[in-house]
Amino acid sequence: MSTSATLFERALRVTPGGVHSPVRAFRSVGGSPIFFARGAGARLFEVGGGSYIDFCQSFGPLILGHADPDVARVAHEAVDDGWSFGACEPYSLQLAEWITHRLPWVERIRFVSSGTEAVMSALRVARAATGRSSVVKFEGCYHGHADAMLVQAGSGLAGRVAASSAGVPDGVLGDTLVARLDDDDEIARIFERSGSTIAAVIIEPLPANYGLLLQRPEWLAHLVRLCRNSGALLILDEVISGFRAGCGGMAQELGLTPDLVTYGKVIGGGFPVAAYAGRGDLMDLVAPVGPVYQAGTLSANPVGMRVGLATLSKMDASDGWNALGGRTARFCAELRAGFARADLPIDVVQHASIFWLHRRSGHIVRRIDGIPPTQGAWYRRLFHGALARGVYLPPSGFEVCFLSMAHDAEVLETARVALVQAAIEAGTP
Ligand SMILES: *Cc1c(COP(=O)(O)O)cnc(C)c1O
Repeated sequence: MSTSATLFERALRVTPGGVHSPVRAFRSVGGSPIFFARGAGARLFEVGGGSYIDFCQSFGPLILGHADPDVARVAHEAVDDGWSFGACEPYSLQLAEWITHRLPWVERIRFVSSGTEAVMSALRVARAATGRSSVVKFEGCYHGHADAMLVQAGSGLAGRVAASSAGVPDGVLGDTLVARLDDDDEIARIFERSGSTIAAVIIEPLPANYGLLLQRPEWLAHLVRLCRNSGALLILDEVISGFRAGCGGMAQELGLTPDLVTYGKVIGGGFPVAAYAGRGDLMDLVAPVGPVYQAGTLSANPVGMRVGLATLSKMDASDGWNALGGRTARFCAELRAGFARADLPIDVVQHASIFWLHRRSGHIVRRIDGIPPTQGAWYRRLFHGALARGVYLPPSGFEVCFLSMAHDAEVLETARVALVQAAIEAGTP
């Protein structure tokens, strides 16, 4: 019989590290990864084995949970109608209109197949529009794996950057500036020195790829002012927060008006769909109207388009974002109470239907240098304790947890008991 362990042994022979995306290998929590045969609602089912309450939800796309029956029906119908035309079809138009009617900063949208592609394309548009070459990104924000985004703060001179991956050419490094989140002075200095060469600032307005780093709205407003004053474009990377932190993501919540925005994850409901979007004059720089080339064989795949629209419509019709945000806030309050009763110094950070656990730090963690150094080792123990009790957390202490509409009161109560027990067993964070 195939078990997760025997499958992983085989996978190691044919795939680098046995996986098709690195975090799946469990390197940061240790042990051998679980192979899932199927998902339903809030649960994932292991090959030939048990089930787990899933707080990873494919790293965010599944806001309705696994295999939502209404979405599944739409997906089946879509497959029956043929799954790729490489030509115009009405489904991407419907999704584009649905979005542009609701989000005023989206005048035009172009669908692509991954967040990485969306970011890469938005940066190209920003450079074409401004005639400038530099982009600013922030330490602790993830924007996919395009060369220009695989950089980190370098050692030595302020503003110096280093590649965060092998294979990134030196030539690319000179055009990316890396700044610290939540640091008013540093970003002001960067604009003073290099403002006239900055094409765009790209930021996750709700950084959720290195823990959940809540940002001060005033700091984000300061950043927007610096962009406006220097002619740099503001790109909000809402690949996680878009259609997750409310329908309009953080742009709506904070009243920010991005020049360009990137979406992914929830927008395709779990199919490979992403998008870049924004001001009409900027988006009209894209081929075939403008000189910025970007194309995709499988772009606006009709199954993904129909599933994306079904997912967003169902959330919209049921006031889903409000309900899910409230449910997550209550669940997190109960978790906090459970940890407190057990005398465990654990902070539960929450925004909308996203949460993240870390050792109590006495302040809000807004930057990666504020993350307690014990995070990795503690989370490893917590993760395996939760797993043993039937709860699947994301397999890294620097990834965030997601609730879906399928996480009902009964599921959450079971999960709460399991997580408090796992935390007691994991000991001092
Ligand atoms: C997931 C993510 C990406 C990359 O998207 P992929 O579809 O994995 O390429 C980019 N930006 C943010 C904020 C993300 O969370």
